[in-house]
Amino acid sequence: MLQHEIMDAKVNPIVNSSIPLLDLITPHQKLQRELVDVFHKALSTAGFIGGPMVEEFERSFAAYCGTGFCIGVGSGTDALRFALIAAGVKPAEVVITVPNTFIATTEAISQVGALPEFVDVDERTSTMDPSKLRIYLEGQCHRDRVTGRICSNRSDLPISAIVPVHLYGHMADMDPILSLAREYDLLVVEDACQAHGARYFSKKDECWMQAGTLGKAAAFSFYPGKNLGACGEAGGVTTSDERIARVIRMLRDHGQSQKYNHEIEGYNGRLDSIQAGILSVKLAYLDEWNKQRREIAHRYHALFSDCDNIVIPLEADWAESVYHLYVIRVQNRDGLIGRLAERRIGAGIHYPVPLHLQKAYKHLGYKQGDFPISERLAAEIVSLPMFPGLGADQQRRVSAEIINFEEILRRAPLRSTDELGTS
Ligand SMILES: *Cc1c(COP(=O)(O)O)cnc(C)c1O
Repeated sequence: MLQHEIMDAKVNPIVNSSIPLLDLITPHQKLQRELVDVFHKALSTAGFIGGPMVEEFERSFAAYCGTGFCIGVGSGTDALRFALIAAGVKPAEVVITVPNTFIATTEAISQVGALPEFVDVDERTSTMDPSKLRIYLEGQCHRDRVTGRICSNRSDLPISAIVPVHLYGHMADMDPILSLAREYDLLVVEDACQAHGARYFSKKDECWMQAGTLGKAAAFSFYPGKNLGACGEAGGVTTSDERIARVIRMLRDHGQSQKYNHEIEGYNGRLDSIQAGILSVKLAYLDEWNKQRREIAHRYHALFSDCDNIVIPLEADWAESVYHLYVIRVQNRDGLIGRLAERRIGAGIHYPVPLHLQKAYKHLGYKQGDFPISERLAAEIVSLPMFPGLGADQQRRVSAEIINFEEILRRAPLRSTDELGTS
């Protein structure tokens, strides 16, 4: 530590304290009484799975999103899997998504028996690039002579759906994606697992639309670290299609419409009532938390505004992001993460290896260079501390460390990064 920093640490404890990537402790301490009440209520009724607390949360989350239905399920992955099945995706069909997402997106596709195929993302928003989707559909697909369905040249299988991912709290550009889906008769299921409350301005409909309302169905995760998180595993599907809602209610509960009447084979994918009760408590705070996330993002934007070697996340003019993550791009990403770790500042990479290059997807036959934007992003991105309650002073310390590190790099581009990591 430098001499002046040691001095600073004595007068200003913030210099020395650690700053986490995410603070999950404070909000739960603040809400402790309300959350413990939920647990007591569940104990006193012994209604642990399903029941009124689940129904109440489903009603309030559907109302929050503006959809006809919300069906609580066991996780975001369940939500994606059930939404795809209920919307009509069948085994041996292709579902198009992006390579720069969490693997749950493609796991759900594969576990339905379908085949994931990728299109690259827009460098500015990190979400599905509609022009790449068009190039794929027009240039890398053909019509089946018998069925007339659009088929992928890669696999020779019919394409049935598109899964745009609203990454980091920022929605994908849905107007052109939905219009291509209509043109090619494809379903759209939104991966809204990082986008609770995010909005999209539809030029076509001339209004703001909320994540979860644009596709046939949408999947939400309520994993603890998400913008709306349970105290355990939880997820939900939103839809305004009554048939889809009915099928998902069966899928999550072993395919039964009534006890021991199994219309289809389903899953064990129910939402438990303690998690639902916790989610109802927290839903009341979601807008306030998202507002704080947006303020924190705007503060970071301002702190980095003079740095041409730090790319800050762009909010497209058609998007209102809820900043699930605040992701910047730098040239020497690994060096910067090392420096931040030394200074006890949390940082993350979402995600370091694009899915088409993961060992688990070797059999898909993609190679390095197939999705250059996703690959470049994966090498340059850093997620900075972002959570409601992150203080302006903490943000100043985070940005100062990053700006200093990038300044040193700029002045001494030939020095090895090992040297730069320590001072
Ligand atoms: C979190 C997440 C999921 C999966 O949600 P789980 O609740 O962990 O199953 C899927 N897609 C994306 C983009 C996510 O961030």
